[in-house]
Amino acid sequence: MKKLTLIVTISILSLFMLFTSCGNADNQDGNNENNSSETTLEGDVTTDTHVHKYGEWVTVSEPTCKESGTKERTCSCGSKETEDIPTVAHKYVNNVCSMCKQSNPDAFVPDYSEGEANVVGGDSGLSRYVSQGSYLYFSASGNTIDKMKINKSGVQTVYQVSAGRIMNINVLGDWVYFYCEGSTVGKSYIARVRTDGSGFEKIVSSVAVWEMIVAKDTVYYTTFPTDGEYKDFAKDVMPLYCVSVNGGTPKQIHDGAVGELVADDKFIYFIHDNEDGDPSIRRIKHGNTSSDVLVENKEIYNLAIEGSKLYFFEHNKYDDIYSLASVATNGGGYTVFGKVMQYSDSMCVVGNKVYYLGGLYRENEFLESAGLVEYNVSTKTDRIAREDYELIDFQSAGNLLIFENYDYEAERLDSLTIYFTDKNVVKTLKIS
Ligand SMILES: [Zn+2]
Ligand SMILES: [Zn+2]
Repeated sequence: MKKLTLIVTISILSLFMLFTSCGNADNQDGNNENNSSETTLEGDVTTDTHVHKYGEWVTVSEPTCKESGTKERTCSCGSKETEDIPTVAHKYVNNVCSMCKQSNPDAFVPDYSEGEANVVGGDSGLSRYVSQGSYLYFSASGNTIDKMKINKSGVQTVYQVSAGRIMNINVLGDWVYFYCEGSTVGKSYIARVRTDGSGFEKIVSSVAVWEMIVAKDTVYYTTFPTDGEYKDFAKDVMPLYCVSVNGGTPKQIHDGAVGELVADDKFIYFIHDNEDGDPSIRRIKHGNTSSDVLVENKEIYNLAIEGSKLYFFEHNKYDDIYSLASVATNGGGYTVFGKVMQYSDSMCVVGNKVYYLGGLYRENEFLESAGLVEYNVSTKTDRIAREDYELIDFQSAGNLLIFENYDYEAERLDSLTIYFTDKNVVKTLKIS
């Protein structure tokens, strides 16, 4: 009985000590007046009394972008400490915050709807106009990349370079790829910027680019000796290079001279001309380095692609006859269509119609009227689609044919006359 009383008394006393020393975190540095205690608890004890030894912080409520959260930690004595967890950044999923449902004010807004993104950055390696979605991209004043709603006058400048001239514009999804020709090769480069002008990235520095086309995450381009002098024709005169759209080390994948770059989602196609002037049409699969010969032993000019066909002009040098011809993208089905006056620098294909500048051939001679010829490869018939243009250069962008109207006094591009081939409609849109 006496023994039990003693045990109970000690127990009560111990509990009393425990609670009096607990709950006062300030006593941790050992200035504890209660020095009569002999109590020793597990943990960092620096004095003869209990010092809180807290466990890991445990989250009580998660913070959101709008409200802070709370966390707590507990000592074995039962004491708790609580702290706020600061608010966190918005968590955007498809540019809408998953917590507060607010949309991302800095969100990049693509210029196209789903399914409208280009597969290839332009119609050819020399194209200066590219359409994607409802926009047309081009350089309105040399040092700018501009975009224009295809149905509306006025341009929006996407990006401006401080020095140099913007060329070889390609548009692929969210990015505009371009070559900036500086005053020297050292100041010339390939770069890209998003279609809203953000995220400028240099891809290749110190490079002299002639043609450039972007397809399948790859920038293809040809280079040239800027002084016109070359040591090795194959290595120095328009060899074909490729580099990832994300940059890295460029790689030469074909000897020069390479020209008339066109592409689809599987291959890049081009005309290869060697030093002896023996042209061939070739292709290289994206990601590969070896070329297949599709057409050889022909004098070939220009190259355009539509679906699974390549179109070009062949020249029969014995009779001095130029003809429109095509070959399948796998090299099969070589077809010669009608005679053309001569090869035309401007040539493009929209669906089953080939457009070029020239005249119509009737009863063994070319008719007087000339202009924009539309040759239907299905019916093998041709017509002058537009007579009101002089025999000058035109550009193509998807199903649009573009005629540039210069203000020669102001020395600038004044407007674009756009021929909507699908609707057979012409519109002139002012630049500013
Ligand atoms: Zn404690
Ligand atoms: Zn939020």
